[in-house]
Amino acid sequence: MAHPVIRGGIRPEKDTFLGGENPFESMMARFDEAAQHLNLEPSLRKVLRHPEKQIIVAVPVQLDNGEVEVFTGYRVLYNTARGPAKGGIRFDLQVTLDEVKALAAWMTWKCAVVNLPFGGSKGGVVCDPASMSMAELERLTRRYTSGIIETLGPDSDVPAPDVNTNERMMAWIMDTYSMHKRHTVTAVVTGKPVAMGGSLGRREATGRGCMIVTREALKQLDLPVRGTRVVVQGFGNVGSISALQMEEQGMKVMAVSDKEGGIYNPKGLDVKDVVRHVKEHKVLKSYRKAEQIDNVDLLTLETDVLVPAALENVITEKNAGRIRAKIICEGANGPTRADADPILQEAGILVIPDILANAGGVTVSYFEWVQDRGGFFWDLETVNSRLERIITSSYQEVAAMARRANLSLRIAAYMVAIDRVAAVHRLRGMYA
Ligand code: NAD
Repeated sequence: MAHPVIRGGIRPEKDTFLGGENPFESMMARFDEAAQHLNLEPSLRKVLRHPEKQIIVAVPVQLDNGEVEVFTGYRVLYNTARGPAKGGIRFDLQVTLDEVKALAAWMTWKCAVVNLPFGGSKGGVVCDPASMSMAELERLTRRYTSGIIETLGPDSDVPAPDVNTNERMMAWIMDTYSMHKRHTVTAVVTGKPVAMGGSLGRREATGRGCMIVTREALKQLDLPVRGTRVVVQGFGNVGSISALQMEEQGMKVMAVSDKEGGIYNPKGLDVKDVVRHVKEHKVLKSYRKAEQIDNVDLLTLETDVLVPAALENVITEKNAGRIRAKIICEGANGPTRADADPILQEAGILVIPDILANAGGVTVSYFEWVQDRGGFFWDLETVNSRLERIITSSYQEVAAMARRANLSLRIAAYMVAIDRVAAVHRLRGMYA
C-alpha cells in the first residue's frame, strides 16, 4: 500500500542548525553583550539564559481525505517574571524548537523594552498551511490549543497571530479554550476579530509601530519624512501595513516582495493598488505595473529605509556589506544575524532592532487584553494615540541609552529590557 504524503510530522532533526543560523544563538549573542555592559550579576545571567518552560506536543489531525497526519507543535514560555507570557503562534514548515525559543526570548525583551506588564512566549506548528484547507487548519488549531491548554490563560499565557496565522485562528483558539473552561474567556488570546473582543487598530498596529519608529529615526538623522525611499521585504501583515502607513506619511515605497519574488518601481509603487492585487491574486509576481525583482537583489537596492518584514536570518555577514540603506527597520523578528551587526554598524547604518521596531503589535495586544478584562472598549483614536505615545517614548529611551553608552540601538534596547526584567527578579527573589 502506498504511504500518504507527509505534510508536517515530527522532525526533531530540524533542530540541527549550521553555526550562526541558529536564531537562539543569535539572540543569546546580543543578550550576552548587553548583560556584559549592564554588569549583570552571574546568577541572574544564568536564570535569564534559560527558557522557563518548553512544551512539545503531537498534533494529530484528520485530513479532508480521511487520512490522519501528526504535526509537531511547540510552546515556549521564556520568562514570566513581569507578568503573563505573551507571544504569537506561527504555522510554518521552517518552525523548530530553537526558533520558537528565540522568538519567546525576543517577546520577553520586547514587552520589557516598551514596559508592558508581560513576560514572553511563542508557539509554532510545523506545517504547510498553504497546502491545507480551512477545515484542516481549524482542526489543527483546535487540537494544538487543547495540547497546550494547561499553560494558556489570561493570567498565564496569551497567544496572538504570527506568520501564517490570523484573526480567524485566534477566534478558534478563544473558542476551544472557552469550551474547556465552560465560559467565554476573551482575554486568553489577542488579535481576535473586533466583533468578539478584538481591539480596533490591532491588525495595523505592528506596521504602524514600524512607521512611527522609522519617523523617529529619520528625525534623529535629520532626514525629511516626505520623499524618503522605502524597500520592504515580506508583504504579509507587517510588510504590507508598514508600506501603507509609510506611503500615507509621504514616503516613497519603491519595492516590496513576498516569498515568490518582488516588484520594483524607482518612482514609487501605488501601495494601495498593490494590496488590492494581492487580495485578489494572493501573490505579487503577477502585478504588471512594476518591474520584477528577486528577493536577493531587493535587499541590496539603494534606499533610505529597508524594512525586512518576512522571516529570520535574511541579513547575514554575507550580504550585510552590500546593503545600501541608511536605516533598517526590523519589522520581522530576528531578520539580522548577529554576525551582520558589526558590518552594519561599521557602514553607519542605523538599525532599529526588532524588539523595538515591531513592538507596536504587542502593545495593542496589551490594549486588547486590558479592554477584554475591563469589558470596556476604546475608540480607534484612543488606541492609536496611546500606541504612538508608548512607541515614541520607548524609541527615545533606547536612543538615549545608546548615546549614553555609545552603543548600537540594538544593544541599548536589550540593556533597557534586561535591566527591567532583572529588576523584577531581584525584587521577587528566588523561590526555593
Ligand atoms: P505573514 O504571514 O502575514 O507574512 C509573511 C510575509 O513574508 C508573506 O508575504 C510571505 O510571502 C513573506 N515571505 C516569507 N518568506 C519569504 C522570503 N524568503 N522572502 C521574502 N518574503 C517572504 O506574517 P507577519 O505576521 O507579517 O510576520 C512577519 C514577521 O513579522 C515575522 O518575523 C513575525 O514574527 C514578525 N512580527 C509579526 C507581528 C504581527 O503582529 N503579525 C508582530 C511582531 C513581529
